[in-house]
Amino acid sequence: MSLTFDPTQPEFRSAHYIGGSYVDDNPSIPMFRPSDGREFAGCPIAGVDTVDRAVQAAKAALKTSGWGGLRPRERTDVLRRWADLIDENALKLAQLETVPSTRLINQMIKGDIAVTAEQIRFFAELADKEGGDTAPTAEGQLGMTITEPYGVVGAITPWNFPISMTGWKLGPALAAGNAVVLKPSEMTPFTSLFMAELATQAGIPAGLINVVLGDGPTTGNALTGHEDIAKVSFTGSTRAGQAIMENIARNGMKPMTLELGGKSPQIVFNDADLTLAADNIARSILFNAGQACVAGSRVLVHESVADALTEALATRMSGLVPGPAWNEATNYSAIISEKQIFRMDEMLQRACTEGAEILLGGERFEGPGYFYKPTLVTGAGQDNTAVREEIFGPVLTIQSFSDDEEACEVADHPVYGLCAGIYTRDLSRALKTIRAVTAGTVWVNRYGRSRDHILPTGGYKSSGFGKDLGKEAYKANRQSKTVLIDL
Ligand code: NAD
Repeated sequence: MSLTFDPTQPEFRSAHYIGGSYVDDNPSIPMFRPSDGREFAGCPIAGVDTVDRAVQAAKAALKTSGWGGLRPRERTDVLRRWADLIDENALKLAQLETVPSTRLINQMIKGDIAVTAEQIRFFAELADKEGGDTAPTAEGQLGMTITEPYGVVGAITPWNFPISMTGWKLGPALAAGNAVVLKPSEMTPFTSLFMAELATQAGIPAGLINVVLGDGPTTGNALTGHEDIAKVSFTGSTRAGQAIMENIARNGMKPMTLELGGKSPQIVFNDADLTLAADNIARSILFNAGQACVAGSRVLVHESVADALTEALATRMSGLVPGPAWNEATNYSAIISEKQIFRMDEMLQRACTEGAEILLGGERFEGPGYFYKPTLVTGAGQDNTAVREEIFGPVLTIQSFSDDEEACEVADHPVYGLCAGIYTRDLSRALKTIRAVTAGTVWVNRYGRSRDHILPTGGYKSSGFGKDLGKEAYKANRQSKTVLIDL
């Protein structure tokens, strides 16, 4: 069966999802399809009152369902049913996702959606496996830690992987016994709404998942500053993460998990398998047209193999044909917005003024939609805009180094520390470099996550703190209480 579909067919409802029902609202923010630039829908903006209504629905649902105090296996069972429904509705979810976003229909069903369902099952299974601890105390005492859900978690997600991010936030929070009010990106909110509807169908008590649509300054701010939100879990830019920290500091303290931006290096040593390195590097920057937090956008290569690697990358990054996300044959994603195309152009112009050269690309594709040519930048120093800024597009800088020490120095970014890639056949060199780079995740002779959901992800430096995925994400959704009893 062909996956290609007519983008006017899916219905994009301008609504919030509160207490198990849709709440219609004015489509205040016009929305454009990145694949052809056409306006197709509008996103409402939840104000303080709507956000409060969602938070109160979440509190009430926690109370009436007793969700946080259920036998954990009961939460597991219902969350697994939700994951099954996500799989069963994969086609509809895929269509709702690909029209507003940059995700491709041919990557959705076996990719983002299947992985999200798996991750929800992974977190569901942790519900009866992760708990507190007993402590070695005197014989006449019992010391222990018990863990408890926070209550209502406020979650905010970016536009680049909407279904995956919804799963990353809702899976662990619900498995750990919390309710959630989620604010998805105003550019790609529709699959979160439908996932919430499926959750209700699966038997997750109405009100445990609420989705409020809107922008950052109004809806996001109202959510993170709400006094009944006990914890905030955010994925997005470092700039927005800073604004959220400020808002929380002003409106009452609460814990937060922040998954933020990156400008990750990929280090290619002179003993590396160059074909493997070129394949991985090209794939990592072309996937979703470079619009991934983990994009390995800075190549650092030993001077003796720099020319060969550059040529191999230029070959792999040439000849891509843009096309609509809803066409099964399309293999290259659009850029999310016209504004982002201008931003990229502006940054590349600045990079050239500062001494960089554009070897490939550096401009948008002619024709409809927001498509940018895969771009290779050389000659950029450490202070160059192309090396410093998270461009968030298919732009790769290539810098060379002469020894291992210099490689690690150049790899260190002044702001970000999300991921790093290392290509070498020398185990000892790999192990030393793993320790030397400042990054929350390091991949060796590969680049990108696997489907091992047990491995957490999160940043160093201003790439954030706290982890998504893994047991860490589950634990981050429960608070620990210390108990000491004199027997
Ligand atoms: P963004 O920061 O502009 O927006 C992210 C979300 O935050 C949106 O829902 C937005 O409405 C909301 N928001 C913005 N300002 C806010 C505020 N003051 N208060 C509350 N909410 C606010 O990011 P984006 O453009 O949607 O996504 C791209 C960014 O996300 C990149 O920087 C990328 O690296 C990062 N990202 C990080 C990860 C990770 O795991 N570290 C994953 C995906 C994306």
